[in-house]
This record gives sequence, C-alpha cells and structure tokens, in this order.
Amino acid sequence: MSESATSGARGISVASAFAGMRSVAPVVFRAGCPDCRGRFELAASALRLAIGATSRTTFYSFTCPECGAAVRKPAGERIVELLTGGGVRTLRLHSM
Ligand SMILES: [Zn+2]
Repeated sequence: MSESATSGARGISVASAFAGMRSVAPVVFRAGCPDCRGRFELAASALRLAIGATSRTTFYSFTCPECGAAVRKPAGERIVELLTGGGVRTLRLHSM
C-alpha cells in the first residue's frame, strides 16, 4: 500500500512539471504564402478564423509577414479545431 502511494505522488509531480512547460510554450501555426511562396510560423494572434454556414465559407486569414499579402485559405473541420483550440480569434458568419 505504501509503495503505490509513493509512485502515485511521483506521477503527480511529473504531470505538474509537464503542465508548466505547456503553458510557457507559445502556440504557433505553420502557414504558407501563395504569393511569395514563403513558409513561416504564425502566432495565434496573427490569424483570424471565419466560420460560415458551410465549409466553403469557412476560412482562415492572415497577413504574410514576408510580402504583406492578405492570405485567405479554406479551413476544414480539423483546421477549425486546431485554430480555435490554439486561441485564434474566431468570427462566426452564421448563427448556429
Ligand atoms: Zn507572402
């Protein structure tokens, strides 16, 4: 009994150490620019997500940090989940 209690306490301290690391690491999203073909990582604050009534009107947008072009790309369900989970500002174009 005392053995399992010891290993349990160790597990908690490891979990809290990982939780601390997660909160420090910034969330970044990889993106590419169709204009200058640049590839870069963007913070959540640099992205905007617009959710429309259908997948055709659901897209994310950002300004290319290399050439300044306004880039808009369609966002599938998985991308929407990723972006909203990462704290990207979301605009709902359609009331759900
Ligand atoms: Zn560009």
